[in-house]
Amino acid sequence: MNNFDIIIIGAGIIGLSTAYKLIEKNPSLKICLIEKESGVAKHQTGHNSGVIHSGIYYKPGSLKAVNCITGYKMLLGFCDNNDIEYDICGKIIVATEEKELIPLKTLFERGIENGLEGIKELSGPELKETEPNVAGIKGILVPQTGIVDYKIVSAKISDLIKVKGVEIKLSEEVLDLRSEGSRVEVITNKENYSSSVLISCAGLYSDKTASMLNKKIDFRIIPFRGEYYKLKDSSRHLIKNLIYPVPDPEFPFLGVHFTRRIDGMTEAGPNAVLAFKKEGYKKSDFSISETFNTLIYGGFHKIAMKYWKTGFYEIYRSLSKKEFVKSLQRLVPKITGDDLIPGGSGVRAQACDSNGKLIDDFLFIENEKVINVCNAPSPAATSCFSIGDTISKKVIQKYF
Ligand SMILES: Cc1cc2nc3c(=O)[nH]c(=O)nc-3n(C[C@H](O)[C@H](O)[C@H](O)COP(=O)(O)OP(=O)(O)OC[C@H]3O[C@@H](n4cnc5c(N)ncnc54)[C@H](O)[C@@H]3O)c2cc1C
Repeated sequence: MNNFDIIIIGAGIIGLSTAYKLIEKNPSLKICLIEKESGVAKHQTGHNSGVIHSGIYYKPGSLKAVNCITGYKMLLGFCDNNDIEYDICGKIIVATEEKELIPLKTLFERGIENGLEGIKELSGPELKETEPNVAGIKGILVPQTGIVDYKIVSAKISDLIKVKGVEIKLSEEVLDLRSEGSRVEVITNKENYSSSVLISCAGLYSDKTASMLNKKIDFRIIPFRGEYYKLKDSSRHLIKNLIYPVPDPEFPFLGVHFTRRIDGMTEAGPNAVLAFKKEGYKKSDFSISETFNTLIYGGFHKIAMKYWKTGFYEIYRSLSKKEFVKSLQRLVPKITGDDLIPGGSGVRAQACDSNGKLIDDFLFIENEKVINVCNAPSPAATSCFSIGDTISKKVIQKYF
């Protein structure tokens, strides 16, 4: 009874879409998805900005670029077929200082290379025609960008795969994995299972699950909490759609921005503060063992040496609403602290290697019988069906 063809760890959007693509390709597969929480999409997927990314940011040919652009179309197709609301409202990326003009140009060229149609360079006055309250010297209009609720997308995938026979086991945590001949034994807090193939999509714990069968993994997940403010209802008119700064090319994060959500609320954020607990959403959340594991990792020491100034600034900005507002005022000078109330937060799973490099691209590590999704940060929600499709093709070709 506990034998499966494929076991997937994690019912975030990557685990769910991988199960969806597998069962679509081969309906006879016996698939089990194991999730430690009592529902699906309880972590990164359920705490993200809800943006359908266009692909403008990513290096042409990278896994992020390829999967984002393919995944974008697949996601819209899925939403259309399942009556899930989304809005392709477009966004602007805004340069507010001369030194941002070269990175802005690079982004525009990337967008063209990545095949985005209709993206347009905007002058300062043209920016104001799109977003009347923005202050920028130059910008880019990205008409493809949209918004959706990834919790709703995940719930729908979950319903559909259950109907097709995928077993979803909730409130069950994978504690260990063992290689048993041609199969993998999966030990949870409730049961033992056996599977021909194991796919791990464990998000913030992808380093932990990857190390269960491979003690020599050369990466760790460093958790970065992203905190949001919300615009008060009376201030929503200040922002029409999505307004982003030019991101710092040194970092894999996009900088605090304004995002209109599909439910009509507008968020400002997220920042990127080193978190002392992987799934800790409050400033006060702390895990001794997880913090210790981060602090003893050689790769983290190198990151801390390189980026300590930025790290301290992020902590300061997290504690000072005034400083957070100052960052937002670079884009929209009219915004004041009175327009904002505290919003939610999310924790990003960012992989870092032992050389102190924040791994920018998606990272998959395969061993015999096992595929580990090790680094799937933004735009992985946008890209989920493409990632799921690639993994499922690989697994079916190789094993079934
Ligand atoms: C603040 C923030 C904003 C973002 N904004 C966007 C955006 O606008 N657009 C976009 O495309 N992307 C965005 N992203 C990125 C996107 O949300 C993630 O890339 C995506 O959700 C990753 O999905 P996942 O399934 O890999 O991880 P998760 O959603 O974190 O799911 C992993 C699951 O694995 C489970 N798990 C872990 N260990 C075990 C275990 N041992 N046993 C059982 N279950 C386990 C966890 O409980 C969890 O449910 C954002 C992310 C954050 C944090």
